[in-house]
Amino acid sequence: MLPDTFSCCAGGKNPVYWWKMFFWKGEFIMKFKDMPYERVDYEKTAKKLQALTEKVRNAATGEELWAVHQEYYQVYKDMADAMTIAHIRHDADTSDEFYMAEQNYYDETEPKLYNLLNGYKKALYESPLRSFMEEKIGRVAFATMDNAIKSMDESVIGLMQEENALTTEYNKLIASARIPFDGQELNLSLMRPYLTDSDRSVRRRAWKAYSDYFLTVSDKLDEIYDKLVKNRTAQAKAMGCDNFVELGYRRMNRNSYGRQDVENFRRQVKEVFVPFAEKVHEIRRKRLGLDKLSYIDNEVYFLNGNPAPFGTPEEILKSGQEMYTELSPETKEFFDFMMENELFDVFGRKTKKQGGYMTYLYNYGSPFIFANFNGTSGDVDVITHECGHAFQGFVSGKDPVIEHADITMETAEIHSMSMEFFTNPWMERFFGDRSGDFLAMQLEDAIRFVPYGTMVDEFQQTVYENPELSPAERRQVWSRLEKEYMPHLDYEGDPFFSKGGFWQKQQHIYNSPFYYIDYVLAQTCAFQYKVWMEKDYKEAWKSYLALCRLSAGKFYQEMLREVGLKVPFEDGYFEEIVAKLSEKLGL
Ligand code: ZN
Repeated sequence: MLPDTFSCCAGGKNPVYWWKMFFWKGEFIMKFKDMPYERVDYEKTAKKLQALTEKVRNAATGEELWAVHQEYYQVYKDMADAMTIAHIRHDADTSDEFYMAEQNYYDETEPKLYNLLNGYKKALYESPLRSFMEEKIGRVAFATMDNAIKSMDESVIGLMQEENALTTEYNKLIASARIPFDGQELNLSLMRPYLTDSDRSVRRRAWKAYSDYFLTVSDKLDEIYDKLVKNRTAQAKAMGCDNFVELGYRRMNRNSYGRQDVENFRRQVKEVFVPFAEKVHEIRRKRLGLDKLSYIDNEVYFLNGNPAPFGTPEEILKSGQEMYTELSPETKEFFDFMMENELFDVFGRKTKKQGGYMTYLYNYGSPFIFANFNGTSGDVDVITHECGHAFQGFVSGKDPVIEHADITMETAEIHSMSMEFFTNPWMERFFGDRSGDFLAMQLEDAIRFVPYGTMVDEFQQTVYENPELSPAERRQVWSRLEKEYMPHLDYEGDPFFSKGGFWQKQQHIYNSPFYYIDYVLAQTCAFQYKVWMEKDYKEAWKSYLALCRLSAGKFYQEMLREVGLKVPFEDGYFEEIVAKLSEKLGL
């Protein structure tokens, strides 16, 4: 399920936990709580990395270089694991003073450590023995290094710090929202249930309160975004780019496709997918018994409310274990491993950080899933979506090439979004007699997401190609795009939303430029699996397993073709998907 305030492994300011992931299946399997922790000493680690960088420069043979690289892997794994353990333990209990201090230490030290890692990579990239290493770790790894090197240098550090300060300001402002509603003061996420309440009059009041809040901060949000656009544009110029689109693509590590490819994808979304999505909204309109869908009906699927899972959080986890036991031997092994080693922290607690993500501990070969169960269908998404990410980490754990863990987000989200569909046959276990409703909602919601997500991407490209646009002009761009991508949408003249303000609540637009289209690309690949599994579940699963194992050893397009998937940038991409999904929905 993909709310537009998507939080899976991507909600925060630093969404890319994935870069810290490595799939080496270590020998030290143990429960998370027993894993020892020791702070990464900056001086010591810096010395090690500098020495390794020197060794790379002086290596006389390929074998020698490869041996140095093995040493680097160990330094990297130890460093990343310590940081990840501290991070998880801090999130698990934000009142714990020890890990709070550790977190503060890393907030300051991490950029410096990553700069040292970049120095090592640069030496490797420029090594005369590069072709030997290319044989060992692959061409993709070097394309990724190329992007990393061209993404930043010393000249933009000041601007990057300012960029960080601006996104922090945005996040703090959004997190501090206190919306008066029904005698309570609610933050944005606590407003969510009211925005989708089954009672339309409750929804109407909730959306009004929501809009009133945004009107009070809208100028401030414009100001922050304006500064961000100008800052990022200045960074792009300093790095020799015309505008931020190019630099943004490098920072997303787009190593095998460019903006023309994405433009072609967006064109197809507009021409083929939008008319289809509009028909699917019609199904929902009729089901809700409305003459016209309004913005207050967004993400509302049933008159008696959206389906929620039954059972305690413990029971949901247990049902998950039964489901993965039946699905395949590989998923059984994975889930048992997660349970035995206590690698889930999913039950809500007072001092626990909000949100959810999946991360990975290299030396232990252990994925870790962090979430906050809250009694909605989101709990099941943790078991399907986040477990899709974790399963991929687990099965590709035998890959000794650390760079293969640098999977890009449009690939990573295929693993998770497709697992949401592969687990469909077991949904009765979670939703009982409303499992049919859940499946309908899941599919319709995924379809609803595609135009919205694509629009977020076009908005950003327009903004960064025209950095001189005023805040008012940016709103006009958003309003125009809403008409193209979601023509049914009716804001009923709401003073905030009808004036092109909705994007201000989409945190990725502020925090992670150009990230959003990755979800959309992945969603459409998950649709390919959805169509495939209904024809032949076994074959589709075989392909999915192969995809998970491929990791980042191949470029995106090559990898998709190898497992029998179509590439989203090609003409005619949506025809089969739309035809088959239409058939399924009786359109
Ligand atoms: Zn995800």
